[in-house]
Amino acid sequence: MSSDENFKVKILASEIDKQILSSSSNQVNTLRNNLVPKKIEIFVWRALKKRIPVRLELDKRGIDLHSVRCPICDDDLESVDHALIFYKHVIDVWDRVFRWWNLGNFSHFSLQEIFGGMAAANVTPSSFGAKFWQALLWVCAYRIWKNRNKMVFESKRWNAPVALNEIQVKSFD
Ligand SMILES: [Zn+2]
Repeated sequence: MSSDENFKVKILASEIDKQILSSSSNQVNTLRNNLVPKKIEIFVWRALKKRIPVRLELDKRGIDLHSVRCPICDDDLESVDHALIFYKHVIDVWDRVFRWWNLGNFSHFSLQEIFGGMAAANVTPSSFGAKFWQALLWVCAYRIWKNRNKMVFESKRWNAPVALNEIQVKSFD
């Protein structure tokens, strides 16, 4: 290969790389964040697809639960949004995070917006800042979910039929 041909191949390869990167950039922005562990990326992806084992989703998939209400507060059905955002103790956590970053009223945001890191685009000019903000939100949501599981699975108000269902839930995919 002449050096001229070699040069053309290099340009072509770099163009292909650019196209591959740009065509998948939306997905990369919303589902990838190298500041968090892989398990948190997977958790976020599953939460957005409503594939985490909250009671409402289990019920939709035919698992017979005693109740589809929230096992912690019992104020509402346990949807993904309820478990991660609208449950009263969780709202308090988000409120603190939003106040810390001076972002105003947290309750105006949806799960998709929070996980998408939309706040980041408006609030932080640099892409690293956006990425950092997104990572923070993801870690918060993940911790909220872990805490929910702890409260549900390690509750002293142990209820055998419910507990059995909760164990089935752990293999939910
Ligand atoms: Zn609740």
